[in-house]
Amino acid sequence: MAKLHNIPPEELERQRQYALKVREILSVKYPTAKPLAYVHTYGCQGNVADGERIEGLLSEMGYDFCDSPESADLVLYNTCAVREHAEDRVFGNVGKLKNYKKDKPDLIVALCGCMMQQAHVRERIYKSYPFVNLVFGTHVLHRLPELLYQTLTGGKRVVCAPEGFGEIAEHLPVRRSGGVKAWLPIMYGCDNFCTYCIVPYVRARERSREPEDVLREAREIIAAGCREITLLGQNVNSYGKGNKSELNFAGLLREINALPGDFKIRFMTSHPKDCTHELLETIAQCDKVSKHLHLPVQSGNDRVLRAMNRRYTRQQYLDLVADAKATVPGLSLTSDIIVGFPGETYEEFQDTVSLVRKVEYTSLFTFIYSPRKGTAAAELPDPVSHKEKTRWFAELTAVQEEIAANRIAESVGKTYTVLVEGRSKTDKSRLAGRTDGNVMIEFAGSPEKIGTYCEVRVTETGKWTLFGEALPQSDTE
Ligand code: SF4
Repeated sequence: MAKLHNIPPEELERQRQYALKVREILSVKYPTAKPLAYVHTYGCQGNVADGERIEGLLSEMGYDFCDSPESADLVLYNTCAVREHAEDRVFGNVGKLKNYKKDKPDLIVALCGCMMQQAHVRERIYKSYPFVNLVFGTHVLHRLPELLYQTLTGGKRVVCAPEGFGEIAEHLPVRRSGGVKAWLPIMYGCDNFCTYCIVPYVRARERSREPEDVLREAREIIAAGCREITLLGQNVNSYGKGNKSELNFAGLLREINALPGDFKIRFMTSHPKDCTHELLETIAQCDKVSKHLHLPVQSGNDRVLRAMNRRYTRQQYLDLVADAKATVPGLSLTSDIIVGFPGETYEEFQDTVSLVRKVEYTSLFTFIYSPRKGTAAAELPDPVSHKEKTRWFAELTAVQEEIAANRIAESVGKTYTVLVEGRSKTDKSRLAGRTDGNVMIEFAGSPEKIGTYCEVRVTETGKWTLFGEALPQSDTE
């Protein structure tokens, strides 16, 4: 794989100059208080990480942030193209802004992210949403200062979504939103072309950040007091291909594990075809790496896996799971599954059900197949009705619930080290965190414990959540 270049420092400096110009314009336009930006990100954690960089850039340009579009001077939707449902929500929410714009004609409406990388979406926005001021694609996120400057000064709509092989913009400002947890992208794009997936078309070719850039950002995150770093990439197991450095993903994990500080490391997503025994040993040996592996299987049937272009068989996947369980004691496994891939029969779907029973995942992210325009699978005949697929989905969900209930019941009486993330969403008197295996756990405790690690003994269980009590003096901070 040819190494794709980082965006040159001169270009990033040019953008910083635009940021200063925007800041100046805004300080004249809003002389008494900073203008407010409302940024909403849809989709995966990779998009959330992009959103944090967008907010970093907006902050550099002089914006403050608000929690609702009603009070904003700039509304930015960072969109996701992976599922139809998310696209529909974006169009619905953008439509609502038309009325806000009537009351506040200076309101800037901006759209970016994966959806904007698709020509048919840009066309629809151009025709049906004339009040949208700025549209930009995934390859020009770093050019937001220049594009916003053009929007503020040109009086015309600005659209910039070039095709690209993808470049990496280092040293962008980041406004982190995860509290004690931080996202750290280590690579971008994807080369795998699973036939149902739009990502390789909207996020371009796979490219990895150099280890020194990843480690620099990891040090910044630790210094800022974050206690959990999640390394992000569409396929972290192929990290490093084409880099100057020869460090692979296992090597990168070891380097981050060796950084001083009291923190945990998670990562996602792992493509099974690239998951090596070396990586499993690294997970087992590195004390800061969570014993949790998200290993998307998508289907348990060989014909469907071939049609999806996943490049592993059911048996290879099961062998990998056996190796993972043997190498990493207590490993928590989670997965993604697509129900009702075009042409899938009920018998083939049963192979997925039996695989789920064999593996006994901690949790599953199950989706009914959603056709994505421009992908190979969208062209395949799809005779099974949505109603029928919904029945299969319910069947698989029931199987997983039974497995999860058994696993959760086994947790009663056990003690887990938990990073306290905040208060429980359902009962503010309780604290909430996750076990190393990524299961939610709630317990009574004072808010000073937020951001620390506690030892928590499980006393009872809910459907998806554990409940417990903090052991005395268990705070490891
Ligand atoms: S590995 Fe497959 S499913 Fe994942 S992003 Fe790449 S193409 Fe999409």
